[in-house]
Amino acid sequence: MLGKEENEIRFLGTAGARFVMITQFRSSAGTVLSLKDTTLLIDPGPGTLVKFASSKPKLNPAKLDAIILTHKHLDHSNDVNVMIEAMTEGGFKPRGVLLCPNDALADEGNAVVLNYYKGLLDEIGVLEEGGLYAVGNLELQTPKRHVHGIVETYGLNIKVRGEPMTLLSFIADTLYFEGLEQYYDGAVLVMNVAMYKRREGVDHLCVEDARKIIEARRPRVAILTHFGMTMLRNKPWEISKQLSKETGVEVIAARDGMRFNLNPFI
Ligand SMILES: [Zn+2]
Ligand SMILES: [Zn+2]
Repeated sequence: MLGKEENEIRFLGTAGARFVMITQFRSSAGTVLSLKDTTLLIDPGPGTLVKFASSKPKLNPAKLDAIILTHKHLDHSNDVNVMIEAMTEGGFKPRGVLLCPNDALADEGNAVVLNYYKGLLDEIGVLEEGGLYAVGNLELQTPKRHVHGIVETYGLNIKVRGEPMTLLSFIADTLYFEGLEQYYDGAVLVMNVAMYKRREGVDHLCVEDARKIIEARRPRVAILTHFGMTMLRNKPWEISKQLSKETGVEVIAARDGMRFNLNPFI
């Protein structure tokens, strides 16, 4: 898919929550991580297959090693079945790994992964609190169940196999909870910050939560993504500039199609 030496995160889409998704003000396609010859697709929301085909250079789904759902909300899972179809070359070459919470697989008519597509995979790993998973040359951990409505949701810590350092952390959708930042020690910290300000009853991080996490963790770089309407209205690139100034940590607002080079962090 990408050159052998390319180690990068590619943000195909940066939409968060339902209105930015249904309007496609930002794309709701997923995120592709290519690292040490292992390629993961995280949270294939609506439009992921389209972005694979329309990206330049094109992304080849048959080169994916794994698809990961942090949770089953539509903006994270809509394209999961079609991406399994593409990863397995139309179902003719069963292969690949799927990692997702149990309620994405088995939930009385509300599972998002169809049984037919489960059968095309080499392996299905069920995410759980404290879980550890190996894919290719990478090790993934799901340290803590998030607080995100009734759906099971997990963030990720990712290491190169055999290395002690957590290279990357992805804080998926969650309401801020006491001690959240303790679980994510990645040198590069990606955070889903859907809301500008906290709103009662909405289980997402806001800018104030992001600032708290960045200050506590002080990663080498923090990347904000998964923007809802209030974030877009307040210009994520200006929010990130302000957070950089306040914290002294480099903070970047992801854009659709943004490629973030991981070579300096390996
Ligand atoms: Zn979401
Ligand atoms: Zn969600």
